[in-house]
Amino acid sequence: MKEFFTLEDFNLENKTVLLRADLNSPYNKEKKEIEDCERIREHAKTILFLVERGAKVVVLAHQGRKGDEDFTNLKKHAELLTKYSGKEVKFVDDVIGEKAVEEIKNLKEGEVILLDNVRLLDEETEEKSMEEHSKSKLVQTLAPLADIFVQDAFSASHRAHASIVGFPFVLPTAAGKVMERELESISKAMESLGINVFILGGAKPDDCLNIMKHLFEKKPECIEKVLTCGIVGEIFLAAKGYNLGSETLKLFSQKGFNQLIPLARELLEKYEMEIEIPSDVAFEKNGKRVEVNVKQLPTNSLILDIGGETIRRYVEIIRNARTVVVKGPAGVYEMKGFEVGTKELLEAVADSKAFSLIGGGDTSLAIEKLGIEKEKFSYISLGGGALITFLSGKPMPGIEALKFSYQKFKEK
Ligand code: AMP
Repeated sequence: MKEFFTLEDFNLENKTVLLRADLNSPYNKEKKEIEDCERIREHAKTILFLVERGAKVVVLAHQGRKGDEDFTNLKKHAELLTKYSGKEVKFVDDVIGEKAVEEIKNLKEGEVILLDNVRLLDEETEEKSMEEHSKSKLVQTLAPLADIFVQDAFSASHRAHASIVGFPFVLPTAAGKVMERELESISKAMESLGINVFILGGAKPDDCLNIMKHLFEKKPECIEKVLTCGIVGEIFLAAKGYNLGSETLKLFSQKGFNQLIPLARELLEKYEMEIEIPSDVAFEKNGKRVEVNVKQLPTNSLILDIGGETIRRYVEIIRNARTVVVKGPAGVYEMKGFEVGTKELLEAVADSKAFSLIGGGDTSLAIEKLGIEKEKFSYISLGGGALITFLSGKPMPGIEALKFSYQKFKEK
């Protein structure tokens, strides 16, 4: 049964289309710019599809979170979209001001603009209902200028943000090409999901812990093992009572990770058999990688990776898995010497017979940078948090909004 509109349901000629893409890209701290990545290349295809059908395209996207180093404008994203779509994508350094409004009104058939980082607006990241967000300044300003909203940001659909859920309440909304492909591929993969090994790493532990809780409570049959690494692993180490040392604890308090420790403790108490935590970690000393057993903690350096013993233990589990889901790198893979955990775990997944689902911008960039063959994985999603949310069966606000819009506008 049809649940939402797709682009084929609309005549796009000369229509103003608001396209929500997820261009959020890994940030290169040395070059101080975002990395060229898969998300940009894939959304460029949706843009080209719209342009070829005569639409006037207004792209909305975000980069980073306010206060973080990777919170940038979207100029470089526009350059890369231009490169990959072969169509000029003009960057407009405004979101809902006069400049943005004028640019949208002046658009001609087949032209494309990318508005600035939608997270410049504080209202964007407030978790609210569709109806509440439809009253936001963002939606109130841009929706009257558009005919159709296209939701292509699968990887941001687990968030009830204004640009994700506000527009479908007031505009006919279609799933974009990236969204369609992700939903189709992951749904197909879910049919074959049996006993699973989840590898949860990276630096967004809030998503990981909340989804773990949901999965354990609602679909316990889906989880055999969770291999924790990255910041997620460190939170579990802290929950076990290990002192991670001043530098890592400083990062924890800056990012608010301490608030997640009670949840990690609760999960460990209930599911100790299923949750694996690192037994050794790596940090930098005099320019070199040094590993210590967690019993020897604290260390005064920032923990940057899991250690060799943990890697061997995790690889053994991966070898015997039927399905593996990976979200987030095992360590700071961007730093020389600290890509080891990420590389070895991903290689073990690539070489195993397991059905493998990989999620997240950083994980797919790590695969590219570490020279692992993409074809060895069953499916690489552009979403990390979105992938595990979808797998857990938890309703995703962005997808619920797509379905809502279909019901509201299908008779019109
Ligand atoms: P995510 O966006 O959640 O996929 O996280 C990716 C980021 O996590 C990468 O930039 C990694 O450098 C970072 N990361 C992974 N492990 C650690 C760690 N132990 N400490 C700090 N950052 C980490």
